[in-house]
Amino acid sequence: MSKISVKNPIVNMNGDEMARVIWNKIQNQMILPYVDLKLITFDLSIISRDKTNDFITKEAANEIKKQQVGVKCATITPDDKRVKEYSLKKKYPSPNGTIRNILKGTIFREPIIIEKIPKIVNHWNKPVVIARHAFGDIYRSQEISITKKGKLTLCFEDENNKKEQKLIHNFESKGVGLAYFNTFDSIYDFASSCFNFALIRKIPLFLSTKNTILQRYDEAFKEIFDDVYKGFKSKFEKNKLTYQHRLIDDMVACLMKWSGGFLWACKNYDGDVMSDLVAQGFGSLGLMSSVLQSPDGKILKTEAAHGTVTSHYRQHQKGLQTSTNPIASIFAWSRALKHRAKLDSNLKLERFALQLETICIETLNKGFMTKDLALMCGPQQKWVTTNEFFEIIKNKIEN
Ligand code: NAP
Ligand code: MG
Repeated sequence: MSKISVKNPIVNMNGDEMARVIWNKIQNQMILPYVDLKLITFDLSIISRDKTNDFITKEAANEIKKQQVGVKCATITPDDKRVKEYSLKKKYPSPNGTIRNILKGTIFREPIIIEKIPKIVNHWNKPVVIARHAFGDIYRSQEISITKKGKLTLCFEDENNKKEQKLIHNFESKGVGLAYFNTFDSIYDFASSCFNFALIRKIPLFLSTKNTILQRYDEAFKEIFDDVYKGFKSKFEKNKLTYQHRLIDDMVACLMKWSGGFLWACKNYDGDVMSDLVAQGFGSLGLMSSVLQSPDGKILKTEAAHGTVTSHYRQHQKGLQTSTNPIASIFAWSRALKHRAKLDSNLKLERFALQLETICIETLNKGFMTKDLALMCGPQQKWVTTNEFFEIIKNKIEN
């Protein structure tokens, strides 16, 4: 089979530990032998980030902006233990956060559904895609401990030192307080990302808030989505797609009742919680993909939602075989290729990416799978090692 030629490059970000081992295998065994593709590679391993004082992460993000397609391996976000383990100069921030801040995009988390693999929520047979507004709210809040009697107020002071103040509570005894914020710019970007994603993927969109209680704060989310929808309404109708705002409690009930097949735009905290709930409901972290998309839908960075799988890496370091699931990482590659194909109008590349996904799904449905998935199927289900799984997929691509 002759190699598929690709006109424009893809930004490839390598990472850490077991995820890196798998990453190199995918790149060298499943992609580069079949696709004549220029990769602009950045090593985002913790060692390389430390060496460059994390400059390499910003460089990578800026290159994604230029090329419009990036694919990223899982990376270590250092905690105190990691700082010691790698003798790091400092506790660097999460690379995903740095890249997101530069691209100003939204993260969409989507399960890969495999018929053979049982789900905890049995009737979810189409993906529930969670979009999390990853800005502001409790993640950028200020807290205060109240240790004596007194008044807690919320105060806004404008540029001319004019103040608007509200009484929050008159404390008679000890307690706690909190204030948080969001910006319209960020909510507009979030809304645009969501409408574009729904349109590209042809799935309906729901936004959830608690605007009955937060009649200004959450209402602002609803109003901004309504405003952005004006620009999408005719395209949505043409594609028989719908957009709806629902109360968060109502939306949670719908999630359990419905069988999936929609995009759910969540506020920051809701998205944090719901993406873990949905991941668990669908099964394994090894089947959860994640994409960061710019508000205009043109820039896409794909990755697996899981981490570097440290426990498996420790085994690998000892020379032992592991059974690490590469599906979410393979889908990160196939989705990046699909986006490149769409931007370049490269039909052959699109077909290759689709074929790669189909082969993965068929392989799992035939009962060849890694241990994490076998455990979900039950005690009678056999499993294969990481290397055996790669061999099976590689053989299928070639035949
Ligand atoms: P993790 O790497 O996702 O692994 C947690 C556990 O989930 C593993 O120990 C393993 O369970 C199972 N698992 C996850 N992915 C799997 C796969 N592909 N195949 C089979 N099993 C899989 O999360 P973590 O252990 O909390 O974090 C490890 C490192 O990853 C941390 O340094 C963290 O900073 C980083 N991280 C990075 C990202 C990212 O770059 N996007 C995301 C999350 C975490 P068993 O051990 O039971 O087999
Ligand atoms: Mg969480």
